[in-house]
Amino acid sequence: MLSELRKDPVINRWVITMDDKQFTPQKESMLPANLPEKDPACPFCEGNEDKAGKLLYESKDRAGKWRIRVVPNNNPYLKVETQLKRKGVSMYDTISGTGANEVIIESSRHDMDLDGFEKEHVRDLFKAYKDRILDLKNDTRLEYILIYRNRGFKAGAQNLHPHSELMAMPVVPKRVQEEMEAASEYHKFKQRCVYCDLIENEVSEKERIVKETEHFVAIVPFASMTPFEMWIIPRRHQAHYHCIDDRQTADLAYIMKECISRLNRALNRSSYNFMIHTSPVKDPEHRHYHWHIEILPRIKSIAGFEWSSGFYINHTPPEEAAGYLRKL
Ligand SMILES: [Zn+2]
Ligand SMILES: [Zn+2]
Ligand SMILES: [Zn+2]
Repeated sequence: MLSELRKDPVINRWVITMDDKQFTPQKESMLPANLPEKDPACPFCEGNEDKAGKLLYESKDRAGKWRIRVVPNNNPYLKVETQLKRKGVSMYDTISGTGANEVIIESSRHDMDLDGFEKEHVRDLFKAYKDRILDLKNDTRLEYILIYRNRGFKAGAQNLHPHSELMAMPVVPKRVQEEMEAASEYHKFKQRCVYCDLIENEVSEKERIVKETEHFVAIVPFASMTPFEMWIIPRRHQAHYHCIDDRQTADLAYIMKECISRLNRALNRSSYNFMIHTSPVKDPEHRHYHWHIEILPRIKSIAGFEWSSGFYINHTPPEEAAGYLRKL
């Protein structure tokens, strides 16, 4: 089995890529086959709205039934009520747990995933993300608003009801900072945005494209961390997710539904995470940074080698994964 070291052009992280036909997703990463439409114990299910907590945002379908509800996490990691305090403790630095931790309940039904939603429903989800960012952005103590989704236990979800989470923080997370610094270096050197270059390159090479639409491109990245990793990148250079317009939102709903549906078929409904990487809320419209969505299947455990080295081992060549996803 031949292996190859590949470098991610943005973050400069090395990945070991191989073609391992023996590799299969771990069984425990797959979602149970028949989830109930309603779970009486689930606070996110229809009928249990009073258990979900204070309503922060809601969107309804044409019949007036709720589609999406946003509530505070009942056990929040960070709270808006906490006063922001930065403090040095001997040689260490601390900040009070100020921020916001919200749950975006994506459906009144327990048993759905994004690929089962109508396109308008997914569009409303992306609108909800935008509206929550625009609201929280007014709080000047917050530096970064991260939106992510844990699907399946292996991806860290505690409840299988379709939902995503929002974490507003008083600092910019390290992972985003690294990406932004790397993109800034690239821009300093080439006077071009690395993501804009990436789109042009992938569209012309075609072999790692999963889907192209008017406003977005979905690819399997060259140095994927895991088999079937995908990135969805807007064609227009745009640093902030919250600057997305209505036409882009509708188009994003379509391409996301396509990507999740293909992923679910390719990996038999395995766990995955997705996250929106966007600029820190107070930053200007950078020329070097370009928001995007990363979809990361969670089909194997992170082992000692990965933890200790920062290397990832990918058992499926990205070109093969993209070809497979394209044909589905
Ligand atoms: Zn539920
Ligand atoms: Zn760009
Ligand atoms: Zn990213």
